[in-house]
Amino acid sequence: MGLDDIKRRIYAAEAAAGRAKGSVELIAVSKVQPAERVEAVLAEGQRIFGENYVQEAQAKWPEWRSRFDGVKLHMIGPLQSNKAKLAVGMFDAIHTLDRMSLARKLATAIETLDRAADLFVQVNTGDEPQKAGILPEELSGFLEQVRALNLKPQGLMCIPPESEDPVPHFRMLKKLAEAEGLEKLSMGMSADFETAIAEGATHIRVGSAIFGARDYSAKH
Ligand SMILES: *Cc1c(COP(=O)(O)O)cnc(C)c1O
Repeated sequence: MGLDDIKRRIYAAEAAAGRAKGSVELIAVSKVQPAERVEAVLAEGQRIFGENYVQEAQAKWPEWRSRFDGVKLHMIGPLQSNKAKLAVGMFDAIHTLDRMSLARKLATAIETLDRAADLFVQVNTGDEPQKAGILPEELSGFLEQVRALNLKPQGLMCIPPESEDPVPHFRMLKKLAEAEGLEKLSMGMSADFETAIAEGATHIRVGSAIFGARDYSAKH
C-alpha cells in the first residue's frame, strides 16, 4: 500500500515487460477519498489524478491546484452530456467518450473554451449490457464520426468484467487500438495493473491500492 510501493511495482512490471522505466502513466484515482489522504499523496509528489464525478472534482481540486503546481486531472467516470463543458474546463483528459451526443458536446466545449483535452474512447470489451462503452464491432464507425467533428481521440479505455480474467480484454483493447492507429491504452486498476502493464497499458488507473479502501458512506 502507498504511493512508493505502487511505483516500485510499476517499475518492476515495466522492466519485466521490457518497457522503459516511466513509460506507464500512473493516474491516482482519488474519488471519494478523504482530503488528508489525497494531500499526503500530493505532498509525496504525485500530480496525475483521476476523478469519476464532475461535481466532486469541482469541489475539491481548485484549491489543491492553487497549492500544488502541475496537477493533471483525468475524468474516468461516466460523463453526462450536460456536464461536458464543465469537464473540458477542468480535466486534462477524458477517458469515457462513449456516444455521439457526448462527442458533439465535447467538440463544442473544446472549441468554445479553446482548451484541449486528451480523449479516450471507452470500449465495452465484455459486451456487458449495464456497462458504458462502444461495442468492439462498432468502434471503427464511431471513430469515423468522432473524427468528422474534428476531435482526435488518442486512445482507448476499458473496464473488464469484474469476475473475468482481464487478459483477453486487455489484448482485445490493444488490438483494436493498433487497428485504429491509436497509441494510448487506459487499462488496469488496483487489482490488475501489473497484468495491464504486461499487456501494453500506457495509463493505469489505481485508487484503493494507493489510498486505501473507499468509504462511500462517509462521502468526504
Ligand atoms: C474507481 C475506478 C478506478 C480505481 O479503482 P481501484 O480498484 O480502487 O484501483 C479505476 N478506473 C475506474 C473507471 C474507476 O471508476
